[in-house]
Amino acid sequence: MYSIKDKIENILMKVAKPARYTGGEINSIIKNTKDFKIRFAFAFPDIYEIGMSHLGMKILYYLINERSDTYCERVFAPWVDMENMMRECDIPLFTLETKTPLKEMDIIGFTLQYELSYTNILNMLNLSGIPIRRIERDFSPLIIAGGPCGYNPAPLSDVVDLFVIGEGEEVINEILDLYADWKDRGFNKEKFLKEATKIQGVYVPSFYKEEYNEDGTVKGIFPLVEGVPSVIKKRIVKNLDKSYFPAKQIVPYINIVHDRIMLEVFRGCTRGCRFCQAGMIYRPVREKSREGLLELADKLIKTTGYEEISLTSLSTCDYSKIEELIHDLIEKYKERGIGIALPSTRIDAFSVNLLKEIQKVRKTGLTLAPEAGTQRLRDVINKGVSEEDLLNSTKEAFKAGWNTVKLYFMIGLPTETMEDVAGIAYLAHKVADVYKEVRGNTKNLKITVSTSTFVPKPFTPFQWFGQEKIDLIIEKQNLLKNMLKGKIFRYSFHEPHISFLEAVISKGDRRVGQAIVKAWEKGCKFDSWRDYFKFDVWMDAFEEEGINPYFYANKERDFYETFPWDIIDCGVKKDYLIREYNKAMEGKLTNDCRLNCTGCGIKELDKGVVCFEAKK
Ligand code: SF4
Repeated sequence: MYSIKDKIENILMKVAKPARYTGGEINSIIKNTKDFKIRFAFAFPDIYEIGMSHLGMKILYYLINERSDTYCERVFAPWVDMENMMRECDIPLFTLETKTPLKEMDIIGFTLQYELSYTNILNMLNLSGIPIRRIERDFSPLIIAGGPCGYNPAPLSDVVDLFVIGEGEEVINEILDLYADWKDRGFNKEKFLKEATKIQGVYVPSFYKEEYNEDGTVKGIFPLVEGVPSVIKKRIVKNLDKSYFPAKQIVPYINIVHDRIMLEVFRGCTRGCRFCQAGMIYRPVREKSREGLLELADKLIKTTGYEEISLTSLSTCDYSKIEELIHDLIEKYKERGIGIALPSTRIDAFSVNLLKEIQKVRKTGLTLAPEAGTQRLRDVINKGVSEEDLLNSTKEAFKAGWNTVKLYFMIGLPTETMEDVAGIAYLAHKVADVYKEVRGNTKNLKITVSTSTFVPKPFTPFQWFGQEKIDLIIEKQNLLKNMLKGKIFRYSFHEPHISFLEAVISKGDRRVGQAIVKAWEKGCKFDSWRDYFKFDVWMDAFEEEGINPYFYANKERDFYETFPWDIIDCGVKKDYLIREYNKAMEGKLTNDCRLNCTGCGIKELDKGVVCFEAKK
């Protein structure tokens, strides 16, 4: 009889990139499986290369493994070739560390980073032999989920037993303590879940019912049992400097998307872009101290051997000590050739100067995100940058030797006209003119213009908007294709049908969840991968479930309407979002709230929530 390990070994050489499934990487954790009360699988519903680049996973993996009663292992979605082999050879989905079938875990924790990974969650459960719908499962394993998409838990409410709303490292130990306690007492899932609702940040969907109005909108999300909270407040780490951050990171054997040290410098963002969900749900800004970061960088370099440090956050140049931090890191590590990367760059002379410093050690790309092609539309979305800013910074960059630049935009933004879309191409042409002015010709210049499609997201000032119809988006993309011809330019864009599905699920309710299950049953998975996305199958699934996807994606909503995510309190108040919506319509800007508080409401979330203190 073959063990599961033998069976896996037998198929590994027949699939692409076997290192996705072997485990055993530097800094991965191997414990004796018999010694633990709780076996926990941290599940990332996409392939290894993507999941391993995710900072949240790195933090939670080590944090949970600090516990003496718990063993946390990792699991990713197997790529299609591996899945086929596994199904053929009857191999259930297994953890990387010990090749234990997922079914034998006590808890499986999924991270919800993007809505289009939801069918992968269903596929992973099925591949593990675990029923998809929570009512068909008994006590184990417990399926929990967290991450940004958990802020609208409705579409996965029939699948997930317990959602964590907010920052996982703040809550997970409380859940595990409770679980350990219940396991000692023989475990009763219902009672355990009831007890878990007392933990702030925990949402148990089975204790609530979603009801609807005749026009199809949500009437409310009502508690079914006594004593459960009527609103779930998110949890946040109050002092990021004192919160857990591992001194190790796993070093994979194969290239992953972000193959370098990830050093988180702060959380949150104060810029207030009106389309940006991360900017709202991760408030308030909490910075790490420069000293703490330098100490961590030192440890991480020693434990990983990486030669690049990425300073991560939503907008790293906003870190109050960024110049000093970069200076210190460069001074300390330049001899050893250790480079610094700034993955999110704003468009101003200041950030270009920082990039120039960084370049002295290692060449980095120049990526700028003006988001919209005209000043009018940039004001509507509250992107506080001007054309002058952009052209000045590119000029500085070209002078300093850059000759490639990537420009990110969004199309389909509220109030956008064809003139705004054409503005994207005009801006790209102006950047080319700047290059010519600096260098005398455009030889060697490469400008990549990339557009994504606006998806209205919960908890943003633009949550009431509908997404633009697919035909119009295609027309806009065609306009840009025609205007960005020639050797200098490269135009790339998101597939609009995929963005449409993202919009349906982002604003979906529990009924949309039924269609997700149906779509998976009909063969959908890896929906964010163009080659695997099956739009027609999704449309059939919606029809079979009696769901009108256009109602979710394209319909404009009223301010008084109840949303499926109104059960969640992310701290930023609805009246603030409405105020921001109205200001957008008037083309008025809202200042960066580091300068003056603009009253988003986050300070009222919880005792001890402190916002960024403005430098006066
Ligand atoms: S409460 Fe004020 S300072 Fe704090 S995040 Fe909100 S707007 Fe910014």
